[in-house]
Amino acid sequence: MSASYMFTPAPIPVLPISGTDALFPVHRIYCVGRNYADHAIEMGHDPNREAPFFFQKNPDSLILPGADFPYPTATRDVHHEIELVVALHSGGVGIAPQEALGRVFGYAVGLDMTRRDLQAEAKKAGRPWEVAKAFDHAAPCSAIQPAERIGHPQAGAIWLKVNGETRQQGDLGQMIWKIGEMISYLSNLFTLRAGDLIFTGTPAGVGPVERGQHLQGGVDGVGTLDLRVI
Ligand code: MN
Repeated sequence: MSASYMFTPAPIPVLPISGTDALFPVHRIYCVGRNYADHAIEMGHDPNREAPFFFQKNPDSLILPGADFPYPTATRDVHHEIELVVALHSGGVGIAPQEALGRVFGYAVGLDMTRRDLQAEAKKAGRPWEVAKAFDHAAPCSAIQPAERIGHPQAGAIWLKVNGETRQQGDLGQMIWKIGEMISYLSNLFTLRAGDLIFTGTPAGVGPVERGQHLQGGVDGVGTLDLRVI
């Protein structure tokens, strides 16, 4: 006789995969901070290549393509951060940088939505970032494009428009830590698994959003995002 759950477990978070009906089951969401020099500078930090640092979002905070972003509670300053998202089909520990791209299933476009006011308070007090980064609906994301279709992008425009006006404009080639290096570094901190997503950092131009605004973003060759703040 198998044990039964005390209540129905929450559904497994998923992302659609472009060009197929199959769903990508999401395990964890890792995010890298300050991975574009111009964004590090705008946040008041040294853009030199210090070791990467990571935080996490909750997998059930994903917003699927076609859904809107509900303005969160407990903040007056929610910022957009447009990012390339890496989706892993296998994992491990101690992965060498030159082997890391072999773990990648594909790529998507995501928004690392951030309660900037709560993050500033947390930074000042030396507190953790979860309330700033891991809140409900904090991770809008596009469908995943399989790497076997698009390859492993190393350059290409990454951009975000608010109500049609460009706010963020960068290039994947500006990333301080490259995709393989990030995967390798993370795999020395956590056991990576199939289903893990990695948000790879944002270029300069982050700023606040307001209810009613239209957010459009993309990474050339990967995909686009299109949603409203409600
Ligand atoms: Mn970010």
